[in-house]
Amino acid sequence: KTVPLLAGPCSVESEEQIISAARAVKKAGARILRGGAYKPRTSPYSFQGLGAEGIRLLEKAKKETGLPVCTELMSVTELEYFDNVDLIQVGARNFQNFDLLKELGKSNKPVLLKRGLSGTINELLMSAEYIMANGNENVILCERGIRTYDNYTRNCLDVSAVPYLHKVSHLPVVIDPSHACGIRWMVPVLAQCAVAAGADGLEIEVHCNPEKAMSDASQQLTPQQFEELTAKLNKYAAVEGKSI
Ligand code: PEP
Ligand code: MN
Repeated sequence: KTVPLLAGPCSVESEEQIISAARAVKKAGARILRGGAYKPRTSPYSFQGLGAEGIRLLEKAKKETGLPVCTELMSVTELEYFDNVDLIQVGARNFQNFDLLKELGKSNKPVLLKRGLSGTINELLMSAEYIMANGNENVILCERGIRTYDNYTRNCLDVSAVPYLHKVSHLPVVIDPSHACGIRWMVPVLAQCAVAAGADGLEIEVHCNPEKAMSDASQQLTPQQFEELTAKLNKYAAVEGKSI
């Protein structure tokens, strides 16, 4: 059994940026390239993503590396650009956008459904149900940290979501340690916890020059940090009889 890693930058910023990141994550062992083209940002004055052009650059990176790509869909009106996207991400801020979920239910693409910022497990399962009830059973759940009263980390990683979701549903569960903590140095240890908890995959943000990233600069790993992490995760996974 494998614990595939989805890795890549928070945002697609330029051709050079996404292709160099794609090469780096592939070299380190990632199975899927992630990168945001449509970005849900808290502030309307922050970088909003390259949109359709970002998808085009992801397609280039896919061609270049052979890696399948995962990117976020924010609105059904953008779906026409997603023909060559292999895995559609529904972000935390959209996890109860029921019209979007229903539309994805009519699509034949796998969907990575992220838990909302303050979403309960039941709400996450019901959102997955919206996609499946409309005909698409290819749903992957993603725990990416939830809001609590404390803010020493960006969010609070709910590791218990993994065994619980495995108990009550048949769906794979991915952990996103990057958005969970929002702190670069903490990502590796949370990734190890995710493997120990039995996560079916991990989504990790990686950028060739994280400090200069146009979004989520404080949490993205450098290619070297990611490579060190994958080597370590392989050892952890081996304990469970798995590999990365
Ligand atoms: C992302 O994956 O870059 C993202 C915006 O994630 P989330 O929806 O979990 O905040
Ligand atoms: Mn991000």
